[in-house]
Amino acid sequence: MNDTEVRLERIRGTAKPLDHNARTIAALTSNPGCARRAVLDAAGLDKQRLAAHIGFPVQAGQSRYAITRGNAFESQVKADGCAELLRLLREQLDLPIPRVSYDDLEPVDGDDTREARHARTRRLLARAAEAGDDAGTLFDHPMLRLDVGGRPAYLEPDLIAFQVRGQFWVVEVKSFAIIDGQADGDKVAAAVTQAAVYVLALRGLLAELGYGPETVADEVVLVCPENFANRPTAARVDVRKQLTVLRRQLSRLSRIGDLVAELPDQLTLDLAPDPAGVPRRPVPDLVHALDRLDARYAPECLGSCDLAYFCRDEAHGHTATLGRTVRDDLGGVDTVDRALGLAEGTVAPDPEQVEAAELLRLAARLRAEALG
Ligand code: SF4
Repeated sequence: MNDTEVRLERIRGTAKPLDHNARTIAALTSNPGCARRAVLDAAGLDKQRLAAHIGFPVQAGQSRYAITRGNAFESQVKADGCAELLRLLREQLDLPIPRVSYDDLEPVDGDDTREARHARTRRLLARAAEAGDDAGTLFDHPMLRLDVGGRPAYLEPDLIAFQVRGQFWVVEVKSFAIIDGQADGDKVAAAVTQAAVYVLALRGLLAELGYGPETVADEVVLVCPENFANRPTAARVDVRKQLTVLRRQLSRLSRIGDLVAELPDQLTLDLAPDPAGVPRRPVPDLVHALDRLDARYAPECLGSCDLAYFCRDEAHGHTATLGRTVRDDLGGVDTVDRALGLAEGTVAPDPEQVEAAELLRLAARLRAEALG
């Protein structure tokens, strides 16, 4: 173990590191500037448990109803040898009708460890890639792997399609509805970023086999129910932007040593439990340790990070809680009180706040005029 790994292990304490999945990797992109999150994720610390212990529990995850609905929709899409899906893929990808074959990668001779499934996925994808142009194969339940902060994360896309023109496509099945051509923007963004994680992992696997990134399409196929019926529809979505952000954030995690080196040597957020299962560490101690990790709270954290309620409380009264646009527009004016003081002219601006102060005074004047 190198020095950084030793320090990260000390920060995590006695617990085993948490495994990443596509959802948590996708969430890394929602606040790339936050050092607190970067360190805790690199350490594999259970942020949900930490948040609960310090008094800021996150809401429960997906509802049972949503999970059941998601599973039912996926089964419907994949029923009868993926009949519905093939119809959609033929429309979207010109998948050749006579040549489609189907490989379910889930069971592995009774041995269903992630490593065994990954090895089988690798073998079958290698065979398809070698077969060349028109293998026309669907791979169900493949198991991919991505390095996250030096640890392997195992990932399971809904499906990979290998079709004519020598390209693999990631297919993501989601149960949120597209109504009159519109879907919930946040849900689409999350699904597309998650699919981009799979693209990255698939490219990594194929790179190990000697194939370039062009072997995996820059677009993914998103399959969702259409309108209020459950009939599936599909759309191709470009994920190049998400890939760039993901690569940047993953490389930041792999350079986590620079961030860790600035922290106190003995810093730890150990959640070792007492016999009743409650972490022994007093809450004030943990909060004090968390304070040593610079946070960069933004409202987006609420949908993507288990520490969001703690960090929001910590950032109370700061302009950051009003969103990135406000924080950037008020660059250098950190608190709401100071912004109000500058707007009212009761506080003198620091040299770097002169421009923001003028804008605030103008905004205050316009508001006063508008209100008569
Ligand atoms: S909730 Fe806190 S730790 Fe998580 S990304 Fe936001 S600021 Fe960082």
